[in-house]
Amino acid sequence: MKYYNLKDKKEAVDFKTATIKGQGKEKGLFFPEFIPKFDLDFIENLHQYSDEEIAFQCMKDFIGDEIPSDVLKEIVSETINFEIPLKKINENIYSLELFHGPTLAFKDVGARFMSRILSYFLQDEDKKVTVLVATSGDTGGAVANGFYQTENIEVVILYPKNRVSEVQEKQLTALGENISALEVDGSFDDCQSLVKQAFSDKEINLALFLTSANSINVARWLPQQIYYLLALKQWQILEKENPVICVPSGNFGNICAGILAHFRGLPAEHFIAACNENDVVPQYLKTQKLEYKETVATLSNAMDVGNPSNFIRILELFENHFEDVKSKISGYSIDDDTTLQTIKEIDKKFNYLLDPHSSVAYTAMEQYLKENPGKKGFILATAHPVKFPDAVEMAAQVSIELPESLKDLMKKEKKSLEIQADFAELKRILLDKN
Ligand SMILES: *Cc1c(COP(=O)(O)O)cnc(C)c1O
Repeated sequence: MKYYNLKDKKEAVDFKTATIKGQGKEKGLFFPEFIPKFDLDFIENLHQYSDEEIAFQCMKDFIGDEIPSDVLKEIVSETINFEIPLKKINENIYSLELFHGPTLAFKDVGARFMSRILSYFLQDEDKKVTVLVATSGDTGGAVANGFYQTENIEVVILYPKNRVSEVQEKQLTALGENISALEVDGSFDDCQSLVKQAFSDKEINLALFLTSANSINVARWLPQQIYYLLALKQWQILEKENPVICVPSGNFGNICAGILAHFRGLPAEHFIAACNENDVVPQYLKTQKLEYKETVATLSNAMDVGNPSNFIRILELFENHFEDVKSKISGYSIDDDTTLQTIKEIDKKFNYLLDPHSSVAYTAMEQYLKENPGKKGFILATAHPVKFPDAVEMAAQVSIELPESLKDLMKKEKKSLEIQADFAELKRILLDKN
């Protein structure tokens, strides 16, 4: 499989190059040269396959002969070595729980896959790679955990000061060793913009071999399709009609992976992009105008994105046909009061505890189902409520017990370096690492 640069389609690279480089010239995102279709018999009979086999079938066409089958099988099985259950909340809404991995959020899937792929590709190269990543909350922890103690890989994480939860902060600052955390005096968009500048800086690129682990990297983006298939495997046993799939969205990598799987043949009635007050995409779906905005800080902080990088991949899938995008995707913007209200209500009515991100998705789903009666579907529960104890306890007035693994982590010391949202400062730090 070749991947072309969405900014310059003449630039086409293999999977290895796309993974190591992260992005193409002019910061363009890589995109597969064609969309491999699922075998109809496979997709209609998912329950006959093991999760590992499904994950392997999902990924193999994107990698071709660049990685031997037995190695890829091993990698996908390590990627999903925790449960991903589809739980019923009520008659019409199910929850795909993506938070049973090591950092209790769905990004574990992409980060675990990417770290193993990168480490495979680097094993016969005499190269040290620096993974540079901006996080609005969960990416940092998942990447730190996924890459911790991986040989030949240094990880540098930028996160916005005071805008991530305590658990999230510990997950990215407490590991140390090959993981460094930079606490930026600014927003997630500032962090992301610093990272993008670093990628296009000549001097840095001469001194270091940089790659990204944001969802713009194909090795993080593509494996997210796997759990849509695992959801369908469970759905097909429970329900007849195709599901409406609602995804809490920030940078739009997750929902884009689901839509990609749908283009390959995964049955889905409709997709819902559930956003908080950062509503660039819901606005676009109304007005056809893509207007990037300043980020607003909300309770669902991993979705505080004013410039969703992956949305361009969705447009590419639909060949930029606005009417087609609109007929397949609905967008909703949910405010913080409603987010808290929904956590409280769903806990009370159905005894199901949502985290703030999943709560945004639940409300969006409920609104869509009200406008489109008779349909059913599932939300992607992207984080464990324990990662956001303040919001969840405030709303539901329950106290949530930390899992054992987190208790140990919370006792560890935070190690981070504070910096201004200033590229010169980041550059100095990166060059010093060399
Ligand atoms: C990252 C994240 C999101 C948003 O996912 P995107 O792929 O950036 O749209 C939603 N919820 C949680 C908990 C996250 O960590």
